[in-house]
Amino acid sequence: MAAEMVLSDSAAWGSQELTNAAAAVAKAAAVGKEGGKGPAAAPRAAQGAMVVVVGAGPAGLLAAHFLARHHGCRVEVYDRRGHPGPIPIRPGDEDDDDRAFALAMNVRGGGAVAAAGLDPAAFTSVPGTHMCEVRDTVLARGDGLPRVGGGRGSAITIAFDQPRVVGSRQAFVRALLHQVEQQQAAAAAAAGGSAKGGSVAFHWGQPFVSADLAARTATFEKGEVGATFSVEYDLLVAADGYWSRVRRAAERQAADLCVTTSPPNHQYKVVRGLRPVPHLRLGPAAGQSGYGSLFMVTEAKAGVRAAGGGPPGSFFMSQPSEEAGVTAVLSMVHARWQGLEGGTAAAYRELLRVGYPSLPDSWAEEMAAQLAVRPLYDTGMQVHASQLHAPGVVLLGDAGHAVSPATSNGMNSALEDALVLSQALEACGGDLAALPERYTAARLEDAHALQWMDRAMSALVGRGGAAAALKASLVARVILSKATGGWVRPHALVLLKDGSLPYGEAARQVRRDAAVAKLVATGLGVALVAAWLKGKAH
Ligand SMILES: Cc1cc2nc3c(=O)[nH]c(=O)nc-3n(C[C@H](O)[C@H](O)[C@H](O)COP(=O)(O)OP(=O)(O)OC[C@H]3O[C@@H](n4cnc5c(N)ncnc54)[C@H](O)[C@@H]3O)c2cc1C
Repeated sequence: MAAEMVLSDSAAWGSQELTNAAAAVAKAAAVGKEGGKGPAAAPRAAQGAMVVVVGAGPAGLLAAHFLARHHGCRVEVYDRRGHPGPIPIRPGDEDDDDRAFALAMNVRGGGAVAAAGLDPAAFTSVPGTHMCEVRDTVLARGDGLPRVGGGRGSAITIAFDQPRVVGSRQAFVRALLHQVEQQQAAAAAAAGGSAKGGSVAFHWGQPFVSADLAARTATFEKGEVGATFSVEYDLLVAADGYWSRVRRAAERQAADLCVTTSPPNHQYKVVRGLRPVPHLRLGPAAGQSGYGSLFMVTEAKAGVRAAGGGPPGSFFMSQPSEEAGVTAVLSMVHARWQGLEGGTAAAYRELLRVGYPSLPDSWAEEMAAQLAVRPLYDTGMQVHASQLHAPGVVLLGDAGHAVSPATSNGMNSALEDALVLSQALEACGGDLAALPERYTAARLEDAHALQWMDRAMSALVGRGGAAAALKASLVARVILSKATGGWVRPHALVLLKDGSLPYGEAARQVRRDAAVAKLVATGLGVALVAAWLKGKAH
């Protein structure tokens, strides 16, 4: 039997249980008292104002909904892609192939969706969304997966306090859009065709090209190549992902906005429709309801270290629905794909045999065949911005603070950005002119803290004093938390995955814990040397 350890990352610790969003409101209010920086722009009421949102991903969709339904804005959403498609999603839908990796929405993202008046429970209860709920994550090495007749190695199961919703990015986008469109139609009908309480209109297949921040106009491409048109806006929301063209246009025109990016060090492929195997509890058994698990399996023998940290190769496995079967994402550092790309299924079969020997035998052929032909995607660059706004512009989600997938927080933080934006607008009395600066005041510390923790997580697999202190503090917290029945809180990196800590608070805890671990290790070292010297003297 594979040894299994169950850790609880309970989030129930009373008064300390703040959310980033709640903390953000306080910060935004504080900036209001000080009056903010720079000359005050003339107030501009949000009610009836024109907001242009670029990008209909998780951040853009939720922000559009908040601004229309909660603040009465006229919102126009533009996306370079076509409409993502309806619910239900056909199993094996080609549209869903694009970045069909397993994203996990935790209480942070789900809380933001609920605060917007949408229903995160419908993501799994409405048939055909191809999402499932998971209540734990299993971490294993390639030779340590639970096996049908008992197996070697070990797996660690981390139980979540709250179940998470797992699905592809595209499935989340469809589920959100479905509800936004439904509410929009209901609101328009209730208002006799003219949605007085704000509106959302979508423009698909129309990429953003440029913006003039002084004139407050944004330019988009029409269907025909080269044809463009411009629209005026009161607020421009950049929610167009890590490669954001809006952010780059703003950076050229706003001296205060400086952005640094680091390229992705991993690439991934998606394998879909594998037959479920009962001994891996990836989803509810056929015909039954219940929870599944999310598996993360790192290579048994790591040949190449990831530049900047991170495991060189991992499989993420989930079963979004019974009809869709098991989805497995193979993520590896660039170097490991070289030599495999353009090769045959045999090369992938060999990779699976050596790196992941305890994957179910029945999957090997199918996985190798799919890996040989599936497209290779970058995991996305990391984005660090000096502020989350420019005049008349706000940066949301990956456009403002993209992190690596290791944190499981990209989409969750993007959804929370929309909530923070809405709360910042409330805090400045519905004045759109004051909003960009307020939003930065409310969100920047958390955005930077998330990025710091992203790097800290990568450092976990590295060598040296900093990595050792981090590992020691993580293990110490796990043991103490278990021994005291949860009185000692789990490590902040564990809570980060669960979504129950503001990012800034989590980063402070991680730093503090690592400093204590260093101090204890140094103290022990000094005591040992002293004891040894004393023994020698006798
Ligand atoms: C392998 C992998 C695993 C991940 N796992 C997780 C996870 O478990 N949990 C989690 O929370 N996050 C996860 N993430 C991160 C998550 O996918 C992103 O952080 C999230 O999608 C960001 O949302 P967004 O709305 O900011 O941007 P995006 O989802 O990138 O959406 C941007 C939108 O803008 C549109 N667009 C782009 N350019 C233009 C243009 N010029 N004009 C008009 N429209 C444009 C795009 O078509 C797209 O619809 C993972 C990412 C990867 C790569």
